[in-house]
Amino acid sequence: MTTMTTICPRCAHGTLDTLYSSPIPDTWDVLQCQRCHYCWRTSEPERRTRREAYPDGFKLTAEEITSAPEVPAIPPLRTAS
Ligand SMILES: [Zn+2]
Repeated sequence: MTTMTTICPRCAHGTLDTLYSSPIPDTWDVLQCQRCHYCWRTSEPERRTRREAYPDGFKLTAEEITSAPEVPAIPPLRTAS
């Protein structure tokens, strides 16, 4: 298991699930944050895998997650015209 990432790059949460590991041992893992559900593979670039390098515009705080509006409903399908 790779230990490069110990916190979520997006929200800095420390509890992560390992969704999948490479069939070649110690190569990469697919991790998912238990709080914001961000998901990444440990072999991706640092801007996707490390909190320090993750783009500021996409970072979330615990407050932002708590106060996030509900996911919008999918509108009815348009009829073909
Ligand atoms: Zn997260």
